[in-house]
Amino acid sequence: MSSRAEQLLAELNSEYAKLHREFEEAFWIFQMGDHSIETRMNEAEKTRDLFRSDSGNLAKVQSVLAEPDLSAEHKSRLLVWENFFKLYQTPPELRLLRDEIADLESKISQKLANQSEGYENPDTKEFVPASKIKMRMMIRTDPNESIRKACFLALEGLSTAVTDEYVKVITSRNKYAQALGFEDYYAYHLSISEGMTKQVVFDLFGQIYRQTLGTFEEIRKLEESQLGLRKPWNFAYMMAGSFMNEEDPYYGFDEALRHWGRSFSALGIDFKGGTLQLDLLDRKGKYNNGFCHYPDIVSFSDGKRNPGAANFTCNVVYGQVGAGLQGMETLFHEGGHAADRLNSEQGDTCLNTEWPPASIAWAETQSQFLDTMFKSIEWRARYAKNKDGQAYPFDLFERKIRKLHLLAPHGLHHIMFVAEFEKMIYEARDLDTSRVLEIAKMMYQKYFDRDGDSLSALSVPHIYSWDSSAYYHAYGLAILALQQWREYFYERYGHIVDNPEVGREMTAVWELASAKNFAEFVRLATGKDLSSEAFLENATISVEDLLARSRKRVERLNSVPEYAGPVNLNATIRMVSGKGIVADNSVSFEDMAEKYKDWLNK
Ligand SMILES: [Zn+2]
Repeated sequence: MSSRAEQLLAELNSEYAKLHREFEEAFWIFQMGDHSIETRMNEAEKTRDLFRSDSGNLAKVQSVLAEPDLSAEHKSRLLVWENFFKLYQTPPELRLLRDEIADLESKISQKLANQSEGYENPDTKEFVPASKIKMRMMIRTDPNESIRKACFLALEGLSTAVTDEYVKVITSRNKYAQALGFEDYYAYHLSISEGMTKQVVFDLFGQIYRQTLGTFEEIRKLEESQLGLRKPWNFAYMMAGSFMNEEDPYYGFDEALRHWGRSFSALGIDFKGGTLQLDLLDRKGKYNNGFCHYPDIVSFSDGKRNPGAANFTCNVVYGQVGAGLQGMETLFHEGGHAADRLNSEQGDTCLNTEWPPASIAWAETQSQFLDTMFKSIEWRARYAKNKDGQAYPFDLFERKIRKLHLLAPHGLHHIMFVAEFEKMIYEARDLDTSRVLEIAKMMYQKYFDRDGDSLSALSVPHIYSWDSSAYYHAYGLAILALQQWREYFYERYGHIVDNPEVGREMTAVWELASAKNFAEFVRLATGKDLSSEAFLENATISVEDLLARSRKRVERLNSVPEYAGPVNLNATIRMVSGKGIVADNSVSFEDMAEKYKDWLNK
């Protein structure tokens, strides 16, 4: 029994949880629109980063590890911390560069948050204020082509607002990674977040791209009868716009909380006494993408488990077509992230955050597994209902599949598009603004094959921040893993929706937090090594086979009784809007859902 080991572990655990919280609390306030906290947030981030990169901490761990009388448990826990500190070592000579990068990134995020967003009305030529999120949704759903085009052009204009700063930040990030011995920042980030190489990831993606190229040919054939289909502002609308409008009544956002709560309860998902804070509506100045962060990570002190807390957000424009679907998807997706980390049973706090050694790909497997379940026809047939209580019709699903199944690879194409764009940016020699634009256009053509250019790669918020740049591949790896996991569950249990066995198996891996890497987790959860097999099977199955399989899955769910009990997620939940609390579950989840609904509709 080494009291030095005991003491050091206790110190490291409480210190990291505290530094993590100080940054995350400020981060949330900043991202929800109060930018006055920026200096405090940046300071807190720096302090947390210094703790992780402190060579003194690594030395302390190594000196205790050298003690002869260590117990096996202490030894393995100290090795976890040794690995953690090694991941973050920053030589003192790189600290200045790291600070410069952080300053540049904060300038970029401020500039992006303060953009004047809107489009020019094509008839009156007047400026119409509209958020980027709103304009993106309008491109998908507005029946007026000239409005869709105006929104597209406005977004194109907004996408180049920070290109000069972007070039600088890429050059500096590469300098940093190269000083650590990596080829570039992409290789560095991929190595610390997934323990993988660019070669492995992009070989896998390249193989999938080649096997799914047929989709572009089919679209060009369709264009012969649907003029203008491949115009960037027409494609999504002409393919799916009418479905968005037709589906919208089945996804009333004011019912989103209730559906989410019941569906998670039916799976047996339990937040283990944690706290959830949800801010779901779009506001000016608020970060323009959904995310889940964890101000409090699970920790243990004096043998007692301290539950975690999760904050999640999205940008619902209430009342807009498509908003309900987007909001519900967020609840499932970000709720999946929250369930994952809040279920940890690991004693060492460095395993309980979303940062390395956490695998981004594994985290995304959890969230996307749950949002894919939400998008399944059997979920819709049971939960998605219009105001008259009629369930989402199979006929609508069938018409949609007949028209859109050829787009099955597009979700992954979109991810590979961002990933390869960033890979090329980091690999470019003598990067300048014109080269950035050139790569953005080239990748757009490779992955979308549209009749016209777009710089949409530059509108992806991830590329601008240190933590989320060189990261998109993780979404793609997650899609492969979750398809493999779904196949495993269907084979084993016959159904996923409302199946507590699925929740039980997911909880068992959530308890391990970051104790394993992505490849190990995939094997553990699905019984197989990661491959593209399940994905390709789903992307290339024939329309008739897919419809037959879907019918069977809906029928199978009919034999599963609906969840009838009250929603109990074992969590304190607060619905907020900025700093104001709209509703909480102190009376019951159902009461909170009702109050939130009233607030939305008032
Ligand atoms: Zn996610």
